[in-house]
Amino acid sequence: MSTQRLTSARAIILATLSRERRHWKPQEIYDVVRQILPSICPSTVYRTLDYLVKNGLVSVSDVGWDTCVYEIVNGDIHHHFVCQKCGAILNIEEGLVEEFFRKVSEAQRFVICTNHLILFGLCEACARTSPEGQSVSTECLQQRDKGNEE
Ligand SMILES: [Zn+2]
Ligand SMILES: [Zn+2]
Repeated sequence: MSTQRLTSARAIILATLSRERRHWKPQEIYDVVRQILPSICPSTVYRTLDYLVKNGLVSVSDVGWDTCVYEIVNGDIHHHFVCQKCGAILNIEEGLVEEFFRKVSEAQRFVICTNHLILFGLCEACARTSPEGQSVSTECLQQRDKGNEE
């Protein structure tokens, strides 16, 4: 595998993810790269994605789909709630996660590199309508009350 090809796969992936800022499945990324570099093998694309993730240019996350998803990271960092019932992906209000990260990072001297936090649960509508939602929230409340007593 030539360095040349790795470099161009990298450039194509970055350009593709920057053009369309959303959650990409690896297969979709491979399909785009293959249109430009027809002889590229999937493992090269996956290796390149790994490289981009390790260098903080791309985030990789489990959002409850059948595969992990990739998204460009530049400047505006965001985090999500993912509803386990309807699959909705919501943005967590800006600043709250950063504040939490700053606090725990200071408290436990740990440098956090997570750039795309995913919290699973139930969205407002699903929590209201599903029996599981109610039991989950009751459990959460009981858990919290127990925590307060201790
Ligand atoms: Zn995202
Ligand atoms: Zn939902």
